[in-house]
Amino acid sequence: MSVSLVTGLYLVAGILFIRSLGGLSNQTTAKRGNLYGIAGMLLAIVATIAVAKGGYGVMIAALCAGGAIGAVLAQRVAMTSMPELVAILHSFVGIAAVLVGFAAYLSPAHSLIGAAKIIHEVEIFIGVLVGAVTFTGSIIAFGKLRGSIASKPLMLPARHAINAGMFLACVALLIPFLSAPDHSAVWALGAMSAIAAILGAHLVMAIGGADMPVVVSMLNSYSGWAASAAGFMLGNDLLIITGALVGSSGAILSIIMCRAMNRSIVAVIFGGFGAAEGAAPAGGAAAPQGEVKSTDAESVAKALLDAKSVIVVPGYGMAVAQAQHPLYEAARILRKRGTAVRFAIHPVAGRLPGHMNVLLAEAKVPYDIVLEMDEINQDFPETDVVLVIGANDIVNPSALEDVSSPIYGMPVLEVWSSKVVVVTKRGMAAGYAGIDNPLFYRENTQMLFGDAKKSVDAILAGLKAGVA
Ligand code: NDP
Repeated sequence: MSVSLVTGLYLVAGILFIRSLGGLSNQTTAKRGNLYGIAGMLLAIVATIAVAKGGYGVMIAALCAGGAIGAVLAQRVAMTSMPELVAILHSFVGIAAVLVGFAAYLSPAHSLIGAAKIIHEVEIFIGVLVGAVTFTGSIIAFGKLRGSIASKPLMLPARHAINAGMFLACVALLIPFLSAPDHSAVWALGAMSAIAAILGAHLVMAIGGADMPVVVSMLNSYSGWAASAAGFMLGNDLLIITGALVGSSGAILSIIMCRAMNRSIVAVIFGGFGAAEGAAPAGGAAAPQGEVKSTDAESVAKALLDAKSVIVVPGYGMAVAQAQHPLYEAARILRKRGTAVRFAIHPVAGRLPGHMNVLLAEAKVPYDIVLEMDEINQDFPETDVVLVIGANDIVNPSALEDVSSPIYGMPVLEVWSSKVVVVTKRGMAAGYAGIDNPLFYRENTQMLFGDAKKSVDAILAGLKAGVA
């Protein structure tokens, strides 16, 4: 295949990736966005194979093995485990950038001199640095999201000095790396990779609880820059473009999520920088006092039938229980009776940006009754019943009222200002941030204990009996 044809194919693939991102920005066009992405990736693979000079057997074998593993994993992964999958996939991009960097450095094909040598080696150095940080950072994020590493942030006393020291040590290693003759400073590259790997792990260990969503989108951004750096090392324009798209869209998402959570992006990038001011680490807030009032599904159904306005707040527990289908059926029954029913979505509900939107779309909930936090927060005082389905941190009043709370300052859905709040969860366990929730002890809160799917099924049965 001629070079100009390959360049043309890369260009088309790049445009398809941009269209894919555009499509994914809206639920109604998300499917089309995915199709653009698939088409772009297919073109990219065909063009890459066509441009290679041999090694087809290895490429096809790697493609089949990777494709098969990917297909099996995608089929098996539960929606609730998606964030872990995304985190571990970021780590693959990170380690790939590191390996490509070492291969590019040791490759006898690159015997450059002068400025070209320096530029190529700086590309390698930066690519390996970003890749190593992404690799270990993503593995720690994977562990935290999976629950195998505690979500509580690791707050070493001099952590910012330690991070700065490690970063400076990496930069210092650039001097022997650049001044060594061809391929002889692999030790410096290795030493920098090891330090960068520790830095990546430490940066993510220092962030925890409710700030984890921003870390995931930050690592998404890092993985894009790592891929882009690999593109420079390999001289592959498409990898540069794709990496830059992922890197910048991940960075934009991080900024949006930081704004939504009232967190500073600098704090997140530098591993909890400034997070200690005023806020206690997870679990440090005072436990709320008082007793909880439990209710049953029949009473909840009756309250819903009597209500004129209802807001449903879904959270991680709804995803675990897969309660979205009966929930929408219940909403349909109420809407048919003329009750105003809406769904309120917190930007970090669940374990993935857009997690709740995806589940509600799967249950065919119309988009016009699914509202973002900013659009609906002021409506709670005029709402008769709020149904909180498996949500916890996103409806925690401590975020607004308790300066010692680790989530203090994070905007939350102010459900407690409605007339009646019904919270559906299995017990009194804390949410992801690991803190108690004073909402459960409020005068107007009723707890409906049990698995969210079973509880919603029971409420639905009560509604059907009530309207029959
Ligand atoms: P939370 O994790 O705060 O709370 C979920 C609640 O659901 C738990 O308290 C649990 O209580 C309950 N639950 C679990 N399983 C079930 C079930 N089968 N039936 C009924 N209830 C169940 O979730 P939220 O959605 O409120 O908040 C999300 C949290 O996750 C935030 O802290 C956010 O920062 C963090 N996060 C978000 C990410 C994102 O991108 N959206 C990524 C990473 C973290 P019990 O065990 O008692 O039932």
